[in-house]
Amino acid sequence: EPIIQFDHVSKVYDNGALGLKDINLKIYPGEFVVVIGLSGAGKSTLMRSVNRLHDITSGDIQIGGRSITKAKGKELLEIRRGIGMIFQNFNLVKRASVLRNVLTGRVGYYPTWKMIFGLFSPEDKQRAYESLQRVDLGDKVYARADELSGGQQQRVSIARALTQDPQIILADEPVASLDPQTTRHVMDDLKRINEELGITVLINLHSVDLAKEYGSRIVGIRAGEKVFDGPVATADDAT
Ligand code: ADP
Ligand code: ADP
Repeated sequence: EPIIQFDHVSKVYDNGALGLKDINLKIYPGEFVVVIGLSGAGKSTLMRSVNRLHDITSGDIQIGGRSITKAKGKELLEIRRGIGMIFQNFNLVKRASVLRNVLTGRVGYYPTWKMIFGLFSPEDKQRAYESLQRVDLGDKVYARADELSGGQQQRVSIARALTQDPQIILADEPVASLDPQTTRHVMDDLKRINEELGITVLINLHSVDLAKEYGSRIVGIRAGEKVFDGPVATADDAT
């Protein structure tokens, strides 16, 4: 059974801009799927649709067989809990410690007031620490987020996603602002998490070379439409 399924998904923005047009897509547990396309093709729109950061205009999206399109309240929260998100600009709380940032991955497990006062259980701190070790940042637990390099900050955001114990990780242009060496480190971490933990990874990239190197399956989109979906070896004209 697919862990992510799009059925005839279209998204038109309020100003009339076409985001996605009739997308059908099935992603199975444990896959590492790279979405490529030129700027403006609809990659972020697709990604933001998966965990419903915005509503789609028509069609349906199912996560583990449950429609996130129709889910409300508690069920929506529950589905989202299984989906970790990584952004191009890291989205960290700059002046907070690395540990504190990683613990925000537990949002949804805690009442808001406990989060504000930082009342985390020892088990959660342990789990945050383990996530940081997985991205080689076990020695940066108490550093302030904005003291770290860009690549390190992105790895903190990977640890934050891991702390959430997700079945799926969505990464929207996670390396777009990083240099080539740092890019490799972040991509290696994502690949390792996919292989070792079996977490399904869906990642947007605009570099076709990087997509070919890391993806086992490539989805190409152009002007909101899916124009390619297949194994890397056949992905020569995916954009
Ligand atoms: P990307 O190409 O990486 O998605 P953009 O610069 O296109 O980055 O978009 C940055 C932000 O601006 C996003 O939050 C996106 O939703 C928003 N955005 C993009 N295009 C438009 C638009 N035509 N009108 C309003 N907001 C837009
Ligand atoms: P990509 O991530 O591939 O660069 P996007 O998904 O950001 O592409 O954009 C797809 C299309 O939707 C573009 O034409 C963009 O201008 C438009 N778009 C994206 N976000 C918004 C928004 N918030 N409001 C209006 N139009 C948007």
